[in-house]
Amino acid sequence: MLNALTVDVEEYFHPTEVQTAVDQSQWVGLPSRIEDQLHQILQLLDMRRAKATFFVLGWVAERNPRAIQKIVAAGHEIGCHSHCHQLVYSLTPQEFRRDTRRAVAAIEDACGVTPRVYRAPSYSITQKSMWALEILVEEGFVSDSSIYPIAHDRYGIPGSHRYPHVIETPAGPIREFPIATVKLSKDRVVPIGGGGYLRLLPYRYTSAGIRRLNRDENQPACIYFHPWEIDPDQPHLASGLIARARTYTGVKGMIRKLDRLLTEFQFSTLSQVYGEVGHSATIIAQ
Ligand SMILES: [Zn+2]
Repeated sequence: MLNALTVDVEEYFHPTEVQTAVDQSQWVGLPSRIEDQLHQILQLLDMRRAKATFFVLGWVAERNPRAIQKIVAAGHEIGCHSHCHQLVYSLTPQEFRRDTRRAVAAIEDACGVTPRVYRAPSYSITQKSMWALEILVEEGFVSDSSIYPIAHDRYGIPGSHRYPHVIETPAGPIREFPIATVKLSKDRVVPIGGGGYLRLLPYRYTSAGIRRLNRDENQPACIYFHPWEIDPDQPHLASGLIARARTYTGVKGMIRKLDRLLTEFQFSTLSQVYGEVGHSATIIAQ
């Protein structure tokens, strides 16, 4: 079965865990590592003949247009991961719309693709911020992958649909692609979607979860990770014991785990796995 692979394209100083230690005004002064990380990821995907959906942060697209162009040239799909990586439920609807427009424009300028699928920073479309889906539809998005159907301290809507579904908003429908989970009992749903879970837990946790989803539920798995998760040489900016452990543990072994995952399972873009999410190409004078 074909599973969906997604990559949230952001710098090591963008994760929510790090933002308490590094102010947004400091971002421009920090050394960029995204180009080398993406190079390694594109090589691995090419070697394993896998395709992915890359959710690009507008801020990164603005500063690294060449790196984003390489993703497009390699035949992957481009999505939007906001502009400034702010939690959606911490923004007003007006601020969210402004941030989304800025991100779409930055991504279009960088690579000539208009993203039509959205992923919120830290899966921050929750019960408190469902209004964001209506704005996404108004801004031309047809799909979203921001709702995690689990309970977590910062994100998730427990009890939300675990399979791809359509959400009707006052502005029209939007398709939702939830990250992979496994249902252990009536009330217990656990994430198996990659990222921190793939990095922090033994490999078989993720692989057994995907197998269970594919075989027992006949559903593809939607998996995610971040470029900084494969980079053992990144500066360690997160402060506080839990934030540091969540952010840096398992980074050294991550590329090996990803390689194994791409060898044992077949992966492609969200569009390939779930049908066309639709993005139109815009011609940009470079
Ligand atoms: Zn992110």
